[in-house]
Amino acid sequence: MPTPILPTDLPPLMHQAVEEAVRLLRAGEVVALPTETVYGLAADALNPAAVAKIFEAKERPTFDPLIVHLPDKKHLDTVAEVPEDIQKTLNKLTERFWPGPLTIVLPKKACVPDLVTAGLPTVAVRVSNHGIFKRVVQELGKPIAAPSANRFGSISPTSANAVLAELDGRIPLIVDGGACLHGLESTIIKIEPGTPKALITILRPGPITLEDLKLYGKVQRVTRTVVDEATEAPGQLASHYAPRTPLRLLSRPSDFIPEVGKRYALMSYRGEEKDGYLDLAEWEQVMVLSPGNGKLPEAAVRFFYVLRELDKLGVDEIVAEPMHEHGMGAAMMDKLRRASKKW
Ligand code: AMP
Ligand code: MG
Repeated sequence: MPTPILPTDLPPLMHQAVEEAVRLLRAGEVVALPTETVYGLAADALNPAAVAKIFEAKERPTFDPLIVHLPDKKHLDTVAEVPEDIQKTLNKLTERFWPGPLTIVLPKKACVPDLVTAGLPTVAVRVSNHGIFKRVVQELGKPIAAPSANRFGSISPTSANAVLAELDGRIPLIVDGGACLHGLESTIIKIEPGTPKALITILRPGPITLEDLKLYGKVQRVTRTVVDEATEAPGQLASHYAPRTPLRLLSRPSDFIPEVGKRYALMSYRGEEKDGYLDLAEWEQVMVLSPGNGKLPEAAVRFFYVLRELDKLGVDEIVAEPMHEHGMGAAMMDKLRRASKKW
């Protein structure tokens, strides 16, 4: 059966969509919901049978743990243990960034099914600041597990139509909340005690940046490979976020020499002649991430959309320009590196 999309652009429609989503979640079903990062595929996090449907719809390997969304900060101790020695730092971080796109990995409580955490002793928690998501999770009154609403390994959806393209006929409902504000997945961190400051490790870069976190501890980034996949950084497969078309991330324009007969598309950062990429080939299409002259948040919002559109062309290769590696640029470069490693 085709999957219905419920609109939310008028208050009564929003009300109906929220009611229907909550009804389905209570019945142990999955529902695609908008968040401020990307669209999530939601299920009751404490109901393993419902969570299993997420994996089924996404064709996601069960070793990949899911993020748990809480109705509010007060629900933290229903699913996680907060070690005494990081309590203060955690409080400061949640006060500053929750609700918002920051996911924190903490020791889990027994009520969280192993399926949610892929058997790990920890759980990744977040409180969304999206109007619709907030209403659904608060009305449900229980934590929701919600990974991105795409098939495993493919591009995260930032609109209801993108979810439909991935999961039509596989899930009972998509709630349309328009385009996502950030367009990139949440930042994931873990916190360890330290003197004089706690140690904050960025497990996945995202909208809350290293610069944002610096005020709250000593921050480090982990760059992972497939080898340590199963242990420290489950789920961050090198092939995550990959389009079907091979993708090459350039370091400088001279790294690219087009082959005769091959068709190429360019993912340009700001579409400027002077950057040296526009003239490199007979591009079948050029899409610019930040036409507003190179602003990282604008690029982030368009990132997955542009990747999807370029992927539809059926060219031999998508070529990506590099961008600044600070702020949200770190997350996009991370994703481009992973996407390019698939091939
Ligand atoms: P998403 O698809 O946005 O829900 O992201 C899920 C990702 O969160 C996984 O692929 C993991 O990388 C990360 N994650 C979830 N739970 C944990 C955990 N307990 N420890 C470390 N990373 C986690
Ligand atoms: Mg995902």
